[in-house]
Amino acid sequence: MTSLQSGDPQTYLTLDDTWCAHNYHPLPVVITAAEGAWVTDVTGRRYLDMLAGYSALNFGHRHPDLIAAAVEQLGRVTLTSRAFHHDQLGPFCAELAELTGTEMVLPMNSGAEAVESAVKVARKWAYEIKGVPENRAQIITAGGNFHGRTLTIVSFSDDPTAREHYGPYTPGFVSVKYGDLDALRDAITPDTAAVLLEPIQGEAGVLVPPAGYLAGVRAACDEHDVLFIADEIQSGLGRTGSTLALDQEGVRADLYTLGKALGGGIMPVSAVVGRRDVLGVLRPGQHGSTFGGNPLACAIGRAVITLLRTGEMQARSAELGAHLHARLGELVGRGLAEVRGRGLWAGAELAPHVGLGRPISEQLAHRGVLVKETHDTTLRFAPPIVITRAEIDQAVDALVDVLP
Ligand SMILES: *Cc1c(COP(=O)(O)O)cnc(C)c1O
Repeated sequence: MTSLQSGDPQTYLTLDDTWCAHNYHPLPVVITAAEGAWVTDVTGRRYLDMLAGYSALNFGHRHPDLIAAAVEQLGRVTLTSRAFHHDQLGPFCAELAELTGTEMVLPMNSGAEAVESAVKVARKWAYEIKGVPENRAQIITAGGNFHGRTLTIVSFSDDPTAREHYGPYTPGFVSVKYGDLDALRDAITPDTAAVLLEPIQGEAGVLVPPAGYLAGVRAACDEHDVLFIADEIQSGLGRTGSTLALDQEGVRADLYTLGKALGGGIMPVSAVVGRRDVLGVLRPGQHGSTFGGNPLACAIGRAVITLLRTGEMQARSAELGAHLHARLGELVGRGLAEVRGRGLWAGAELAPHVGLGRPISEQLAHRGVLVKETHDTTLRFAPPIVITRAEIDQAVDALVDVLP
């Protein structure tokens, strides 16, 4: 046993650096407790969390309703495997389908697993229903995408850091420019099973596609009998001011992948939701997961759905999001080049003279505000929806202080 000195961050930084694989480059803040929009480090210092676990903490840290649901379920049953029924699975699937206006739910764990599952289902649908010749199915993806870290998913990433030296890669994917409808239409062939897109690209820097693009994707998919898979793992469940980001476009996807906030910031919970005739291609034994749809995950997921059912969270995200965008918008030309996004989700592009995002994130942390840069020059703001207007002001004021 290593004995730890709880007040000294350096102890933990050294342990992490020595014993943990270096697949992240975290800010040097060692968190030991959290509540709502605030985290506390091992020295007792508090920070405003403006990242919210990349949208896994949409309802803040340890939301009392979510913790209560988890604790109650911990006292009853946590895991059965899918070899048996349990009393949380059916209600979870029914309630999630109702919330998202869909017909069927495939529960999984991580976001990447949900995307993998959607890809498998789309291929199976293409062979069994659409009639694509065996092993010919193609899925169209977009440049700049982020859908997770599995081998198949990095096979269609164009981020060299995420992709390099993991080959040979999974075939069957074609990439087109995000936001370019003509390019997408040109890429569709009789073998196209699906188009897989983020309605707003998160990791790429909170990129909102041109108006009408997503409706155009829907129309192209309808014309050519192609499935539209919307990856709403980061954009969904209240983040943009609606239950699903696509709702604001008046567009329905055939399949949606959900994750992150579905687990309430407590544990990984993901799902593919969508059309019954598409998810219906799965028969017993053809896909599965030991932990997917476990009782604890379902109980937490149901509490998340309850928080979203009244629409209050979505409305709060829209309203506070407008304030966040207005405040950040004032900084365009004063250190920021551009602010993108929707709801409580903003990508603030640093002006060229400011340089990289990393030192800005570090200086913000010194001022008690946690954000993280993405792709070098974008700061991503995705605070918990429970944040207040005054706390948003506090974070933006800190940004004003650190921008040169
Ligand atoms: C985070 C994310 C994923 C992957 O989720 P994990 O739980 O990290 O596997 C997939 N798609 C999008 C859009 C994401 O933001």
